[in-house]
Amino acid sequence: MIVKPKIRGFICATSHPEGCRQNVLEQIKYIKKNSSVSTGPKKVLIIGASTGYGLASRITAAFGYGAKTIGIFFEKEASDQRTASAGWYNSAAFEEAAIAEGLYAKSINGDAFSNEIKQQTIDLIKNDWDGEVDLVIYSLASPRRVHPETGEDLRSVLKTLGNTYTNKTVNISSGEVSEITVEPANEEETRQTEAVMGGEDWAMWIDALSKARLLADHVKTVAYTYIGPELTYPVYREGTIGKAKLHLEKTAREIGTRLKHTGGHAYISVNKALVTQASAAIPVVPLYISLLYKVMKAKGLHEGCIEQIQRLYADFLYSTDELLTDKNGLIRLDDKEMRLDVQKTVADLWKKVNTENLSDISDISGYRHEFSKLFGFEVDGVDYGKEINIFVSLPSKRQ
Ligand code: NAD
Repeated sequence: MIVKPKIRGFICATSHPEGCRQNVLEQIKYIKKNSSVSTGPKKVLIIGASTGYGLASRITAAFGYGAKTIGIFFEKEASDQRTASAGWYNSAAFEEAAIAEGLYAKSINGDAFSNEIKQQTIDLIKNDWDGEVDLVIYSLASPRRVHPETGEDLRSVLKTLGNTYTNKTVNISSGEVSEITVEPANEEETRQTEAVMGGEDWAMWIDALSKARLLADHVKTVAYTYIGPELTYPVYREGTIGKAKLHLEKTAREIGTRLKHTGGHAYISVNKALVTQASAAIPVVPLYISLLYKVMKAKGLHEGCIEQIQRLYADFLYSTDELLTDKNGLIRLDDKEMRLDVQKTVADLWKKVNTENLSDISDISGYRHEFSKLFGFEVDGVDYGKEINIFVSLPSKRQ
């Protein structure tokens, strides 16, 4: 099949297997070049391992530290009608590269919120690993969760809390800058968003692993959050998603207390705003990212998921120095994004940006390029005119 992008709003309905493979190889290359293997994780469980920050966390553990990895994700295999999802192709490419280097890599594709997938993971660890997990990365981004105890179908919304909020936004395809009004969520929407994107499921994973005696002494677990500048506060930090993230932060403290007696730690890492499938769906944020990329690239400060996660492991989680957090106990990988000079320039550009000057003063072309790359398109060296087999299996599942 010749695979072409089919972009609909903030998703792309097709993915290119070879482009996705090259993206993964590029990240592996970066990690190999930039890690000097020292003490690091050895047996790592990554929940949300197929794209974005979770994929980068898996690549860093495996290729930076030689760790065995189990990745959990929710992706689609190819069918006669459509390609597989990008995360499926990414994971197949990751496993292929890891296995070729003699690294253990297996994946479980299914709903991480369910009891069944937690049990499958526990069974796999018990069966395959002689020893316990020493790092658990929690990197889910989902619009929906079926609660495993009550069966309730919960939905997350990206709304404000309290008041309507109007600000600029961009239509990524057309380049039109317009105003968008984000409505406030009601109590029920707020509760459901917290149940999907808060910390309850992370705590359930840690409890299940702990009960099965699969957590090593001194285990570390990390979940990711975003804070960002004041201009996105109403839709992010002070909106429904921000409330869910506060719950995630509270959960980190609770998990940390429970792990203390074995020397374990639970961390929240505040990561930089980046083009991923999850962030593309948030109103206002893609325009902010387009301006931010322009400013950070000009100052030589730009980083993608892999650069951020390489720093997380090397400078924080596995640094020989004491782990530095901010006054709220958060790891700050967003330090360069939040630099005063960066934020001042972005804020000035924000006031000026409109449809006419978008291409000049923002990095909208960089945003579009990164968005296409998420699905394996516009990747250097890939011949998009060539027929390609879209049916790719996960190497660990091949008999
Ligand atoms: P992403 O969309 O790239 O990845 C989400 C992952 O979750 C994928 O592996 C997907 O398969 C998996 N997933 C979703 N629902 C699932 C389910 N039910 N069962 C199993 N797996 C499921 O997202 P991302 O941007 O990398 O976000 C990961 C985390 O990082 C989130 O907590 C997000 O808030 C945080 N974060 C993102 C940004 C950003 O700008 N993208 C910035 C800071 C923090």
